Amino acid sequence: IKRLGVLTSGGDAPGMNAAIRAVLLTAASYNIEVVGFKHGYIGLLEQEYKTLMPQHVQNIIQRGGTILKSARCPALQTPEGPKLAAATLHQLNIDALIVIGGDGSFRGALEIAKHYQGQIIGVPGTIDNDVDGTDNTIGYATAIDTALDAIDKIRDTADAFERIFLVELMGRHSGFIALSAGIAGGAEQIICPEFGPLSAEDLRRVLTPIQHAQLLMGKASYIIVVAENSYPGGTTALADALTKAIGIECRACILGHIQRGGSPVGADRILGSKLGAYAVEQLLQGAHLQMAGEVNGELSLYPLALTGERTKAIDPFLVRWQQQVGSA
Ligand code: ATP
Repeated sequence: IKRLGVLTSGGDAPGMNAAIRAVLLTAASYNIEVVGFKHGYIGLLEQEYKTLMPQHVQNIIQRGGTILKSARCPALQTPEGPKLAAATLHQLNIDALIVIGGDGSFRGALEIAKHYQGQIIGVPGTIDNDVDGTDNTIGYATAIDTALDAIDKIRDTADAFERIFLVELMGRHSGFIALSAGIAGGAEQIICPEFGPLSAEDLRRVLTPIQHAQLLMGKASYIIVVAENSYPGGTTALADALTKAIGIECRACILGHIQRGGSPVGADRILGSKLGAYAVEQLLQGAHLQMAGEVNGELSLYPLALTGERTKAIDPFLVRWQQQVGSA
């Protein structure tokens, strides 16, 4: 391998910069040139790129976002997109490509691979942690802390006003952030897709623990952490329905993109560094269509095609415990 391409795709995640830095530093130590494509797959399709030098990655490990920028790229999902992306890689003599992103980005990489002669390896970077083949994705640890900071602050105002707050956290189709931040924030209830769909007819599941808590303990504050897409009509609709049902004001707080930002916590800087370096070393060993991950503390490869199978479950012990103690 003489020339390596790298890009960040999908939702940006804190720690992606650590991964880019590790890719560059590791590649440089093997005298491999690194080309960084901008804005995810858009950079490949529109030939927006620059050759990365060690000075480009100085002073970036502590920064959120990604110096290469990230984007979603619908054009890659057209029949011509992957062919065009592969053509760019061939034209620029890129021997291997590192894709830092989530499982959607890896699906894109698999499409490109059908037309590309070089090697491709994935590095899991998404706050959602919903990628099979690695215990944690880059960005997940920071997103938990960011959500936690918000929950702690909302707790203060919930306490003062004796209101019920519903805090909506990101996660698309999984409750990793909701469960972790909910447990760490001492949430009275956690609602996430893994606990089964919640419908308007099924509000009792949420209501009964609230009523119990108030009767038994006279609680002043009550926080329900809700994973996005948990209720038809959204978390604001759920808050309205609860307000109507119990006659106490329930407020929805949608955290949104705040969760993606911020300086990466140590764990994400370390994971990003490790997986970025490991990806380069595994490419040199001939890895292709694999994802660089870490399972039970061991670096390991996982087939890129299986990363979106959704076999990774949220912590079963915490799920059981949360359901056992109900509203604490
Ligand atoms: P996150 O979940 O953190 O947002 P992600 O990588 O899963 O990250 P997606 O929006 O699902 O994010 O995918 C990112 C990009 O990958 C898409 O915009 C598209 O360019 C490409 N992609 C996804 N699925 C496919 C596919 N089936 N074929 C070709 N390209 C795809």
